Amino acid sequence: MDCLKIKDLEIYANHGVFKEEKTLGQKFLISADIFYSFTSAALGDRLEYSIDYGKLCKDITKRFKERSFDLIETSCLDIIKFIFDSYQEVKRVDLEVKKPWAPIGLPLNSASVKMTRRRRDFYIGLGTNMGDKEKNLKEAISLMEEKGIKIRKSSGLLGNKAWGKTDQADFLNQIVIASSYEEPEDLLKILNDIEEEMGRKRIEKWGPRIIDLDILFVDYEIIYTDKLIVPHPYIQYRDFILQQLYEIAPHFIHPVLNKSISVLYEEVKNKNSEIKYL
Ligand code: ADP
Ligand code: MG
Repeated sequence: MDCLKIKDLEIYANHGVFKEEKTLGQKFLISADIFYSFTSAALGDRLEYSIDYGKLCKDITKRFKERSFDLIETSCLDIIKFIFDSYQEVKRVDLEVKKPWAPIGLPLNSASVKMTRRRRDFYIGLGTNMGDKEKNLKEAISLMEEKGIKIRKSSGLLGNKAWGKTDQADFLNQIVIASSYEEPEDLLKILNDIEEEMGRKRIEKWGPRIIDLDILFVDYEIIYTDKLIVPHPYIQYRDFILQQLYEIAPHFIHPVLNKSISVLYEEVKNKNSEIKYL
């Protein structure tokens, strides 16, 4: 992908753990690789379609000087988020913050941190079977937006019989495609915090819940960690999830099964009677 590079932008600022670093300040050097498509800017020779790096450097300088963090890691992530928030077209940022005068009492060229963040599409499944279900879905979505998650597309609401543990109230489900530059596990944490904030208690597996927020897909990525499995392992067995995915992304390809949502939806409609709950 096209990349705008900024190398060693010099800024005098007050980040650091030591008191002197906060009061006297020191020199920092910021380098950034900013990935976004230049096609329309380059084809039309149009500044308004590109990122004006002069303005960007001034804005980064202002932001970096206005704040004072203990850790350069925090200052680095803050600038990354600032770039994503300022330029919606940016897909990835690699950013390095160097401290050439790091006060460690030893000769060194510089100490630095480098972080990478990407903007991704997260397919999020929402479900609720307690209280005012429509209100719960609305509230979960507005809490996501409050936390910086951008909702790009939403399915309609779909009522469903409970899946897995069937002796409980019917569910209301919805799927949204949301854009975020949080790392997938960090996004899961944000979603879990929203569940908790809305009063969800984890009492029994597949039991009644005010809100359940599951990550179904993250772009075309495959993730398998202790906390997060993506694509969500039950997508292909649940006709209601596939029905709603079909509504908003029929041609999306499941990256593990290598089949489109429309094919998986057809399959589940034909096979559903044979599938035992897992
Ligand atoms: P369920 O959604 O299966 O009814 P929970 O919402 O209680 O159950 O989730 C249990 C755990 O599943 C969470 O703590 C989370 O770490 C884990 N998990 C693994 N993969 C995912 C995913 N793709 N989306 C949401 N949670 C996931
Ligand atoms: Mg869940």
